[in-house]
Amino acid sequence: MIRFVILFIIGYFTYRGIRSWMYPNPLKKKTVFGKTSSEIDDVMVKDPFCEVYFPKRNGVHLKIDGKDIYFCSTKCRDKFIASREK
Ligand SMILES: [Zn+2]
Repeated sequence: MIRFVILFIIGYFTYRGIRSWMYPNPLKKKTVFGKTSSEIDDVMVKDPFCEVYFPKRNGVHLKIDGKDIYFCSTKCRDKFIASREK
């Protein structure tokens, strides 16, 4: 019976160790503007060239005049740059 209790305690701490290793500081995640980081990644942005909305993390990033612009694809980004240069 004692052996079972020891095994249980070892198992419990192993489980906790694995959990904290897989999910480090779960409380810290919620401190960014009251939202989790995954919610912030899912923010929708508008492609200024084709005017389509898409998730920001799937977008193609471009920095022009200090502004961060996101495009739905590299094609839109290239066309936008070309239209600016005309
Ligand atoms: Zn586009």
